Amino acid sequence: MPEALRLKGQGASPGIARGPAYVMAPEDGRARGVRANGSDAARLAEAVDRAVEDLRDLAGRSDLESAAILEFQIEMLRDPALLEPSLERMHRGAEAGVAWAATMDAYVASFEEAEDEHIRARGADMMDIRQQVLRALHGERPPDFPQGSILVGRDIAPSLFLSHDWSRGGGIALFGGSVASHVATLARSRGVPMVVGVPSAEIETGMELVVDGDDGVVEDGSAVPASALAAGRASGIPVPIGEPAVAADEFPLSTADGIRLTLQANIDHPSELRHLSPTNVDGIGLFRTEYLMASPADLADEERQVAIYTEMLAWAGGLPVTIRLLDFGADKPPPGEATDPSSFLGLRGIRLLLARPDMLRTQVRALLRAAPAGRLRVLLPMVTAPSEVEQTRAVFAEEAARLSARGVSHAMPPLGLMVEVPAAALMPEAFAAEFFSFGTNDLAQYLSASARDNAAVSPLYAAARAAVLRFLAMTVPLVAATGRSVGICGDLAGDPTALPALLSCGFRDFSMAPRRMTLARAALSRLNADGSEARG
Ligand code: PEP
Ligand code: MG
Repeated sequence: MPEALRLKGQGASPGIARGPAYVMAPEDGRARGVRANGSDAARLAEAVDRAVEDLRDLAGRSDLESAAILEFQIEMLRDPALLEPSLERMHRGAEAGVAWAATMDAYVASFEEAEDEHIRARGADMMDIRQQVLRALHGERPPDFPQGSILVGRDIAPSLFLSHDWSRGGGIALFGGSVASHVATLARSRGVPMVVGVPSAEIETGMELVVDGDDGVVEDGSAVPASALAAGRASGIPVPIGEPAVAADEFPLSTADGIRLTLQANIDHPSELRHLSPTNVDGIGLFRTEYLMASPADLADEERQVAIYTEMLAWAGGLPVTIRLLDFGADKPPPGEATDPSSFLGLRGIRLLLARPDMLRTQVRALLRAAPAGRLRVLLPMVTAPSEVEQTRAVFAEEAARLSARGVSHAMPPLGLMVEVPAAALMPEAFAAEFFSFGTNDLAQYLSASARDNAAVSPLYAAARAAVLRFLAMTVPLVAATGRSVGICGDLAGDPTALPALLSCGFRDFSMAPRRMTLARAALSRLNADGSEARG
């Protein structure tokens, strides 16, 4: 019997999807020379305008984050640097489509050759723009595929992802692609399972496939029993859009012996809020703002940040919303900059922000201005020394004074500390922070001296788990003794097997990815507050 298809790629968006494959033929990339009435330059300008209009229309129907990605494409389309080389080619006799395609091919190639993965990933946007204008020139409709399919192809354009209706499920398996692409960002926020870098294989449209975005595997669905998928679902598949992540009847949560616990959500993208109901969670325990920033222009856009934070606070009503200052560095460089693995121990998180005050001040102003809209709390990432909190607080005070002088409405949020550097965990009383949240993903990396993104040392990272739990048992009481609130927002909080130990350390406030909540709730409600199993 031939071996069933099983392809190992890289998980770009978690969860498991099953469905018939839809193999996307590479779009006809050739520009057909159509000599029409009117000048070629005018036809190309019209096609660019039409593509911009279509993108604006799509952006108008999209959430803020998706709209930001489309705005990036609109900005690129409006860039004279794209139009001018096309006009020159037309001057030399090329037809509009041929000239545009040649210009864009050179751009796509320059992006794809970049060393930095984030820049390479923008190549897909350039390809998307190329095709949109060519379609506008040729009067063609954009492609689509049947709902519920597993889309298989080399890469997928952000505009195609956004115009497709994912409400009936489906997934994405790409032979190319990148975890850093805009589509990967969108897939994560919409809960669409996605695997990239799949080795090339014979897959035919209609073939049943399973995409496992957690393990980065694409396999023949006929060889994977439905029961295996049900087990996968229990281990945390994203909840389909519109379905609350948490059953209302399990809320509010208490331990079996009646101690009230809080369960908050970790959010990477504001659009994830569409999957969550504020009536079923105790607030947002961690909003990672880095993923909002797709370009240097985003970093400088204070108004956009004010709008996003205000929208989140309005969503939450009176519940706390904890927004983390930009945690750039290492595997998450600022947009447009190269990754620097050494910065796991260098300029990262609050260190980088204090060294690059423009970035910090824009975000601080946006947070101060959004604060009156709800119960905002601000988290400082990777704090090591008390002076870092003091300097950040001084920046908040200075920007607040400037806003007052301009008569701009604002409020000062409480500042909290991500406890992820061991030195900070051991000396909590030295920090002028109003609350503490343990970031065990980084704490484990810094305790085990094993970079969290380095596959060669991942067994060491995992082996340090017992040491991490012992470290928490030693340091959570130190934080609790300060009288300020202490929670946990690292991945350990969503791991049911770690919950007995975390309760016994003294944690009562947990924040985790929404898809981890159902299992964590069930586990926590069966435990006593000291972490022991409840009887009966
Ligand atoms: C952590 O380090 O535990 C954490 C929650 O932050 P991140 O995973 O974004 O570094
Ligand atoms: Mg961290």
